[in-house]
Amino acid sequence: MTDALSTALLSAHALLHSVFGFNEFRPGQEEIVRAVLAGENVLTVMPTGSGKSLCYQLPALVRPGLTLVVSPLIALMRDQVRALAAAGVAAGSLNSSNEPSETARVMDLLRKRELRLLYVAPERLARPDTVEMLAEANVTLMAIDEAHCVSQWGHDFRPEYLTLGNVARQIGGRLQTLALTATADAPTRGDIVEKLFPASPPRVFVRSFDRPNLRLAFQTKERSSRQVLAFVRAHEGESGIVYCASRRKVEELAATLAESGVRALPYHAGLDKRVRDANQDSFQQDDGVVMTATVAFGMGIDKPDVRFVCHADLPSNVEAYYQEIGRAGRDGLPADTLTLYGLGDMQLRRLQIEQSDSSDERKRIERQRLGALLALAEAPRCRRQTLLAYFGEPSEPCGNCDLCVEGVERFDGTIDAQKAMSAILRTGERFGVEHLVAILTGERTENVAKFNHDRLPTFGVGSGRKAGEWRSIFRQLSAVGLIAQDLMEHGRWSVTEEGWRVLKGETRIELRKDLSSGAAKGKAGGRRDRRAATAAIVGDGDTALLDALKALRTKLARTQNVPAYVVFSDRTLAELASHRPANPGAMREIHGIGDAKLERYGAAFLEVIRANA
Ligand code: ADP
Ligand code: ZN
Repeated sequence: MTDALSTALLSAHALLHSVFGFNEFRPGQEEIVRAVLAGENVLTVMPTGSGKSLCYQLPALVRPGLTLVVSPLIALMRDQVRALAAAGVAAGSLNSSNEPSETARVMDLLRKRELRLLYVAPERLARPDTVEMLAEANVTLMAIDEAHCVSQWGHDFRPEYLTLGNVARQIGGRLQTLALTATADAPTRGDIVEKLFPASPPRVFVRSFDRPNLRLAFQTKERSSRQVLAFVRAHEGESGIVYCASRRKVEELAATLAESGVRALPYHAGLDKRVRDANQDSFQQDDGVVMTATVAFGMGIDKPDVRFVCHADLPSNVEAYYQEIGRAGRDGLPADTLTLYGLGDMQLRRLQIEQSDSSDERKRIERQRLGALLALAEAPRCRRQTLLAYFGEPSEPCGNCDLCVEGVERFDGTIDAQKAMSAILRTGERFGVEHLVAILTGERTENVAKFNHDRLPTFGVGSGRKAGEWRSIFRQLSAVGLIAQDLMEHGRWSVTEEGWRVLKGETRIELRKDLSSGAAKGKAGGRRDRRAATAAIVGDGDTALLDALKALRTKLARTQNVPAYVVFSDRTLAELASHRPANPGAMREIHGIGDAKLERYGAAFLEVIRANA
């Protein structure tokens, strides 16, 4: 290592502590920072929440010159600039939603060469006047966030990204470039390298997709709004997101939660923009708001202390699922997730794929991704193992998912599968699940009588199981592809080729005992371990102090009009409550407290700690 590089690394360590208040690098950050400081071009693929921003923010402070950050997400840009300002860093942004005064401030700092980081939207960079100005601004590094937007394969494609390679050349000859993304399979990665690094391939870093702090759980829908309510109640006072498949459901659930005393707000694209923005602000800014939302709520939320994500309906595929639950626990503290699903969800998602006007190739991929999610929902073992395997990562059982914690019982389901499939065949593959379940359990419904199905040999052969168990069996058979549903024709079931093999006894099938009984069992004991994550770190004795610290944080955040976490993160408050620093020196050792924050907030928080001694 050269002397210059080791000096730069030392100062990076010092700034990590003094500006950001972090004691150490997160996994992966240091090697990237080192490569950037060594002047290399870098592509890094790291999951959401792993701390990608620091990989350019830190070098930006260590080295002279301006770091340009390209990001398509304006809200995220604004939050990062605010967070940097709170840490005492001169940063600014140029985008279409800037106030003129902000633009003037940025231009002034640029002229004086005092700005360290400039966030720019790609549309803005496409303008010749912007490029001209930046060519004079001593730009030494271009960080391209959400780099997968350059790829035409993905759904986030932004044409302006294609020009970035060119822009870099115009601004600074062979300007050093750091591309960052959380989503890049092999073809997308290839695209990024080709389009953003045409001259020479970058050094590539890929971090694990595991997010061990996220608790994973699925439940079948029984009385879904009650299930959601129970889950949200177990997280009293914490910020969270409840995702729903439709706008109507968003509003209904928000109302149900609000009636039960939860601070729930709705968010979907059909709401008036003012209401939407106000709700989003309140979610970002205040403690303990539960956002009930469609997936329209997501891109660009940069709130690190979201403590839970609940899917009240099945997400659209496994990538969407992981991205959506990934919005919880970005601060690395424990966060909880729960996904509810039923046969109706599976039908809806399949229908959406078939009825879309995508190409056949695209539909095939979408079916696969949905299939992967269903397999995860019905997984026989550790969910994280199943999930990571889908992303190509081998792993051990995690100990932090419902299947690891509550276990799962399996049984040879061949005979049950044969019974279910014979009910389908004996009725001419013309009926949906409720009718088939009635036949199996031997229930004389109106329809059973009408079609004389009580005379079938299959009538009542499944009376040893409850209707709910049979529904679960149908779901599982469908998830593994033994039976298929015709979605255009009232959801009637048919037996697939694979199913025929089981029917003929050529292959056997293992099934899972339905978790719903296990889930019910888990609920009673679940409350304790789902207790507020921060409280869990602090221990019971200090919760009064923690509440007082939170109240002060809320007050400061309101008066300064910034989100609560910009003042201090949950982890910082938790450490303050348990270590109870008595003076500025001790306070400086707390996670997240750098020089600027110590100066700005130290006295007020010390006062609260003293008052609660
Ligand atoms: P990403 O862009 O990868 O989704 P961010 O850069 O937004 O993630 O970082 C996520 C959170 O992790 C932020 O709240 C950030 O302050 C925090 N963080 C980043 N690096 C560290 C670190 N070394 N130690 C502690 N917290 C960190
Ligand atoms: Zn597990």
